[in-house]
Amino acid sequence: MNQQPNYTPRSAWESCAEPAQYEAVETFAKRYLDFISQCKTERETIAYVRERLLQAGYVEKFSPDAPCLFRQLRGKALFAVRRGSAPLERGLSLIAAHADTPRLDFKQRPLIEQPGVAQAKTHYYGGIRKYQWLARPLALHGVVVRDNGECVQVTVGEKPDEPVFCIADLLPHLAQKQAQQTVSDAFEGEKLNIILAHRPKTDRQDGETADTSDSTGKDAIKASLLDCLHKKYGIVEEDLISAELQAVPAGPARFVGFDKALLGGYGQDDRICVFTALEALLTATPGEGHMALMLWDKEEIGSDGASGASSRFFQYCVEDLARVWAADTPASHILQNSRAISADVHAAFDPDFPEVHEKQNAAQLGFGPCFAKYGGSRGKYSASEADAEYLAWLRGIFNTRGIPWQAAELGKVDQGGGGTVALFLAAYGMQVIDLGPALLSMHSPFELASSVDLYATWQAYTAFLEA
Ligand code: MN
Ligand code: MN
Repeated sequence: MNQQPNYTPRSAWESCAEPAQYEAVETFAKRYLDFISQCKTERETIAYVRERLLQAGYVEKFSPDAPCLFRQLRGKALFAVRRGSAPLERGLSLIAAHADTPRLDFKQRPLIEQPGVAQAKTHYYGGIRKYQWLARPLALHGVVVRDNGECVQVTVGEKPDEPVFCIADLLPHLAQKQAQQTVSDAFEGEKLNIILAHRPKTDRQDGETADTSDSTGKDAIKASLLDCLHKKYGIVEEDLISAELQAVPAGPARFVGFDKALLGGYGQDDRICVFTALEALLTATPGEGHMALMLWDKEEIGSDGASGASSRFFQYCVEDLARVWAADTPASHILQNSRAISADVHAAFDPDFPEVHEKQNAAQLGFGPCFAKYGGSRGKYSASEADAEYLAWLRGIFNTRGIPWQAAELGKVDQGGGGTVALFLAAYGMQVIDLGPALLSMHSPFELASSVDLYATWQAYTAFLEA
């Protein structure tokens, strides 16, 4: 128990002063950077997690004999559980995170031709600052499903020899009028058009007249793009209507800074929590508690939809679990007696925008994972507030093990706000609190995390699962 009269948050770097400790942090960080470089969509993330679970002996069919089970929903949400020795009635120790990230989705009929280029029209997904997506290399990830059911995987723009895609920005010479506008007026969603091709189709190119072009060469670039798509993927324009193509920042995640102590990359909200929670589940020492992991999709657009946290998938998994592991136990008891961490990132104190934070209650990079007892906005509206008792129990566990942690709220009162999946778990009556690392540049194409926070988050999630 901490008996210090004053509370001063402790830097997590103090806990890794020894070279061997720092080496462990860096090694873990390298594996994490590989993961976020490789998994940029919810489908890719769930596929990765599924693979890791299978390697660890988890089985996909719920059975009374297997101690480690998982189930996924259409490759977009996943529930995994590892059996403990206690009665299931006592509930699960659950960590829940989300696998989706803000991005640009192709529209249903995306392809257009404008002077000099063929482009894809997009509809952004989640909270983006539109200007951050201009004039930067983008990669395409996703699937195109043909009307015979064949699913064509698309990943272009990640390997050094592959082309990338791009949204052009207005040159400053002609942006004088735009510079007078507000940010929301200056950047329009309908102008987020991704350049896909430039070379027009000509008769000489393949010896025949393009049937989609007229004599003036109208839509000749789009025609040549369609040829290219057909050659590479066997698809036609109509197939794009049943596709999920996502434009994401191209290229790998990187260490940032001379000391390599920061981690920069796309989609750390919330894949930093997905990775640390998965590692915790796979490395925690089995004991009495039933350890569980829930990964959801659609968090960035309000958690609706079949694979989002407001769907019944998680509840159905627990009901089936009760049937195979403890037939006499109502699922409602398991749900209500569970303890959960809503594993999501927090906004780090931004040194260049101190005015949006209230410093004493702001999360700091490098101070360990951050508790958010409540979220919401304008008087805690829409918040799922955790009990004082539950937070006390958790900080006791972390203090006993010497794991760094901090507590914060998102920005100044009435500055803005945000929510997580916590309220969907709280609806079952279970204890739940938000706990995750702080990020700078959250929701940007290049978010920043501290490597020591990544490591401490893994330790904290492990301690929670083992408690
Ligand atoms: Mn998040
Ligand atoms: Mn988010």
